[in-house]
Amino acid sequence: MNISNQDACMKKYIGCDLGGTNLRAAIVDVEFGDVLHLMSIPTLARERHDAVMQRMADLFLQVIQAAGLDKDDIGGIGIGVPGVLDLEKGETLFLPNFPGTWPHIPLGSRITRLTGLPTALLNDVRSITNGEWRFGAGRGMDTVAVFAIGTGVGGGLVINGQLHLGRGGTGGELGHTMIDFNGPRCGCGNSGCLEAYASGPAIAAMGMKAVSQGLTTNIAKLCDYDLNRITPELIANAAQAGDEIARDIYEKAGFYIGIAAANVCATIGPRRIIIGGGVAQAGALLLDPIRRTLRERVHIMPVEQVEVVPSQLGDNAGIIGVACWAARMYARGPLHGMGNC
Ligand SMILES: [Zn+2]
Repeated sequence: MNISNQDACMKKYIGCDLGGTNLRAAIVDVEFGDVLHLMSIPTLARERHDAVMQRMADLFLQVIQAAGLDKDDIGGIGIGVPGVLDLEKGETLFLPNFPGTWPHIPLGSRITRLTGLPTALLNDVRSITNGEWRFGAGRGMDTVAVFAIGTGVGGGLVINGQLHLGRGGTGGELGHTMIDFNGPRCGCGNSGCLEAYASGPAIAAMGMKAVSQGLTTNIAKLCDYDLNRITPELIANAAQAGDEIARDIYEKAGFYIGIAAANVCATIGPRRIIIGGGVAQAGALLLDPIRRTLRERVHIMPVEQVEVVPSQLGDNAGIIGVACWAARMYARGPLHGMGNC
């Protein structure tokens, strides 16, 4: 390794999770995947994008100072963004949960101008995928798929030892793979996407339906007979206490994810499938039916070798992953890629 590359590798990187509610940024040691200093402020996404970008830049400079570091110690910034990006131009194209949706906003260059640090963007779930692959549940694996089950269903792929991006970074949207082409409408405009069946709101909707149909379930009591209070977590609690209807709901959600995962098996031959996001906290309630569906539905590869595992890095996966992504962009020396940085 030459000296300048070694220098670059020793630098720390900032990883940022641009969420609809909170803006989180941390100094990350990309060699070990350690989060050294984390700060979180409200995103205030209702303000114009100019104001949000200024707050981001201020936060980055604050986090450097709070960690007792200097700008020279920082090799770059990575921002995990919840939406569609133009990776080459460093622009946001469509952030569905942000007022105004941020079309053609030059987020990367603006942050660079405001902070003086090189800035890379990456989709938020691809950031999580990169983090889990480098330092979490996918560590050491050559080919990995990630499903992030939350408000939506995000995804990401690592294929043959590389984070898969596809054109403009759009590859890996596993939540929008179709499991029934005649199925219900999805937020993306298509019909029958996995997200319409197994996202947090879709699971809550199954609970609401069960209660409103008058089925015998404790979900009604747990939500104080207020359908709006039904959450995936509440249904998981009911299921864990032995409620059959609640168990069925997770069986169904796991089956749907299992069907999408079976398609992923046939497509990329993963060694490990990682299930993350808030809904994955249901644990075996969700993971067991996914595993069972894979065993029943995949026959063209040794499916017993495909492990279905929970994510490991929790809320920090994206921050770690996108910091590593920035390191890969800005610390690449003539001899070494991300393997050394
Ligand atoms: Zn969709």
